[in-house]
Amino acid sequence: MLSVEIPGFRTLHLDHLVVDFNGTLARDGLLLDGVVPRLEALSASLALHVVTGDTHGSARNQLQGLPLELVVLAPEHQAEAKEDHLRGLGAERTAAIGNGRNDRLMLQAAALGILVSGMEGTAIEALQMAHLFVPHIHDALDLLRFPQRLLATLRG
Ligand SMILES: [Mg+2]
Repeated sequence: MLSVEIPGFRTLHLDHLVVDFNGTLARDGLLLDGVVPRLEALSASLALHVVTGDTHGSARNQLQGLPLELVVLAPEHQAEAKEDHLRGLGAERTAAIGNGRNDRLMLQAAALGILVSGMEGTAIEALQMAHLFVPHIHDALDLLRFPQRLLATLRG
């Protein structure tokens, strides 16, 4: 579990992290450099779930052997499916990271929703529904590894 008290925002007690794949962990369906060691380190404190439409059909191969659950979604209603998965884990104990429009509902529902950018861009609707934006997935994963970094940005 990961705990951090953020005055004026909320006290986070997180057990789960739900992460998007394409545009977040991966570019063109391939994992970005530096993501694997960060996921491995985070898995000591959070249960990791990659929930994806798997546009390139590469997620299972790319994530093989990593300490996480992979959920591949049907093409339709992905935003709702991602939110449903997060709520099934317990939204109040779950953080989410994504970049796309189909991440917007899970980012809003999560105890902590982090939006990232990267070379595949960021959906404006998702930007308006997240709690926090960082430019790169490394920054997002490192916020959860070193959660005191969240205080200055989110405190009320
Ligand atoms: Mg994406």
